[in-house]
Amino acid sequence: MITRLNDRNYPRWASQIHRTGGCRQPIHLRGRVLHVDRSTGRLLHSYTTATEPDGVLRLPCKTRRASRCPACAEVYRADTYHLIRAGLVGGKGVPPSVTAHPCLFVTLTAPSFGAVHTRREKNGRPLPCRPRRDAERCPHGRVMSCTARHGAEESCLGEPLCPDCYDYTGSVLFNALAPQLWKYFTDALRRRVAKAAGLTLRELRTQCTISFAKVAEYQRRGVVHFHAVIRLDGPDGPTFPPPAWATADLLADAVRHAAHAVTVTAPATVNESARVLRWGRQLDIREITLDGELSDQAVAGYIAKYATKAAECVGTLDRRINPLDDLAAFNLRDHPRRLIAECMRLGALDEYADLRLTQWAHMLGFRGHFSTRSRHYSTTMGAIRDERRDHARTEEITTGRLPLFDEDTVLVISHWEYAGKGLSAGDALLAALLSGDPPSPVSLDGGGGR
Ligand SMILES: [Zn+2]
Ligand SMILES: [Zn+2]
Ligand SMILES: [Zn+2]
Repeated sequence: MITRLNDRNYPRWASQIHRTGGCRQPIHLRGRVLHVDRSTGRLLHSYTTATEPDGVLRLPCKTRRASRCPACAEVYRADTYHLIRAGLVGGKGVPPSVTAHPCLFVTLTAPSFGAVHTRREKNGRPLPCRPRRDAERCPHGRVMSCTARHGAEESCLGEPLCPDCYDYTGSVLFNALAPQLWKYFTDALRRRVAKAAGLTLRELRTQCTISFAKVAEYQRRGVVHFHAVIRLDGPDGPTFPPPAWATADLLADAVRHAAHAVTVTAPATVNESARVLRWGRQLDIREITLDGELSDQAVAGYIAKYATKAAECVGTLDRRINPLDDLAAFNLRDHPRRLIAECMRLGALDEYADLRLTQWAHMLGFRGHFSTRSRHYSTTMGAIRDERRDHARTEEITTGRLPLFDEDTVLVISHWEYAGKGLSAGDALLAALLSGDPPSPVSLDGGGGR
């Protein structure tokens, strides 16, 4: 800290840190940019990182994971919010007439893999977890009842009453196959909507598109479920009205049917028979309306929030796990440790090789995208980022930091190389102070420096 503060280049360093927006693990780039006039060959402008502090330019890491970098995850969350909201009320190239299209907020859950400690509330008061008067003992001698009223942050929540009875295999395979199950669900939904309208799939395409935006969320028990916005549009997406037969009720019926109909099969192995996996019985379908109880803002906010979370909220690790790592050394709770161990065990089987469970053990088997949208849903993340970048560029031009060039007449030669990432312990403290965040211990022990 003292070295940095005493450095002649400190103001420039502080300005770099400011411009990363408080990123906790900025990317370091070394390189140069030359702007050359194509017709005369005259050098118009040059920039090199050689004169920057430590000879590098620091850029935000742009992660979506709040556990890795809260500042960049916040940017991602806000972008996701605008993108989801555009699909509900218009904006970003989507006409406002989209509000008239039938639109549902659907939650598809995972099935049960064994009884777990839960917290339910009634009128704001917690109910007993799982009270059973004549509860039986499981084969391991544990009473399958829990009369505790659990606090909201109790660490036993989501953990099984009997870990030896809990179906860890099923939980891991469900996470691994959930993206496939989602794909089957959307196919079945299209077929069902077509059938309800008396059309073939091909005819449906000429009248109506079904647009999706979904996020995956981990439940405390370590299994993913999906929240999705599902909308009916005209043949070319949200710019066209859907046909008159396309109502919210028809869509809700089709969702219900498709959710119950689809299955995905995990192949048999030497010791295990094939498993048929399906969505859980809990299916929540709510209509999104401008004036109803479920507003567009609530939905967009909800989806955006989950887009920045990963499995670490269940107590697993925030990075890949090496098969040779000693799981006992990670100081995990028993439940996530067993889920990870099951990923490692199944990952070693040839039959499950394409599920890549070893690589995705830290995600408890799920290797899908956290936040996905169909082509027609609204704008893209790239477009939103470009908009922001254009804005930043305009600002730089108006403040005279970047010369204004016509791209056709100017040759831009640039060369960049990766020079590391992160902040040293002292820099991390200063950066936290500069961005107004309380310095966090995580930013200090996490392999700082370059
Ligand atoms: Zn960052
Ligand atoms: Zn309990
Ligand atoms: Zn048991």
